[in-house]
Amino acid sequence: MKTIGLIGGMSWESSIEYYKLINELVKEKLGGVHSCKCIMHSVDFGEIEKLQHKGDWGKLTEIMVDIAKKLEESGADCIVICTNTMHKMAEDIEKEVKIPLIHIADSVGENIIKLNLKKVALLGTKFTMEQDFYKERIRKKFGIEVIIPNETDKNIIHKVIYEELVKGQFKDESRQEYIRIINELVKDGAAGIILGCTEIPLLISENDVEIPIFDTTKLHSESAVKYALEK
Ligand code: GLU
Repeated sequence: MKTIGLIGGMSWESSIEYYKLINELVKEKLGGVHSCKCIMHSVDFGEIEKLQHKGDWGKLTEIMVDIAKKLEESGADCIVICTNTMHKMAEDIEKEVKIPLIHIADSVGENIIKLNLKKVALLGTKFTMEQDFYKERIRKKFGIEVIIPNETDKNIIHKVIYEELVKGQFKDESRQEYIRIINELVKDGAAGIILGCTEIPLLISENDVEIPIFDTTKLHSESAVKYALEK
């Protein structure tokens, strides 16, 4: 088994889900008391979030590259960034380490293709929804159109992530708002929904909506374990 290098803490609420999922998956595949070989470097999200909202992506890139190098030096065989947003610097990290980075958007794209969907909607932080690093990768690599909510709804999604979900608050009124926004996106032609923020699957489940959901935490964990167990 290879060792998975996880960059976590963004937020720890979702990192524990990664830790749980990768261990459950290894147990499922290998049986007995097998568990996942992994190393997690967990950050202080308070520092990260401040830099994100300041727009200091240069400093954030430095931090992420430094962590990836440390994981590589510690014996990790791959890098898994446990957040969609911080995949903004995925390519910068790939340039600086020799081990592969398992990209969250690829895990999602591969699964959308399996259902043969052509148009899906993306929910995530404003950084993930608005910038090209995520949507464009899915469009170019998998030929899938990715739509996002309107300005007002984008602000609601973003605010709930930073003021509630990353603090471990999962409120019914926010769930209802998310469901309303998803229904709007379905009216705009979305045939599936990417839960493109690793805390959203803690708020919304497949039982809440009528179209397929793509749980990025789960799909990314599956890709990581697949890689770790591959010969
Ligand atoms: N975990 C979230 C994501 O998947 C948001 C936290 C962050 O900004 O990294 O994007």
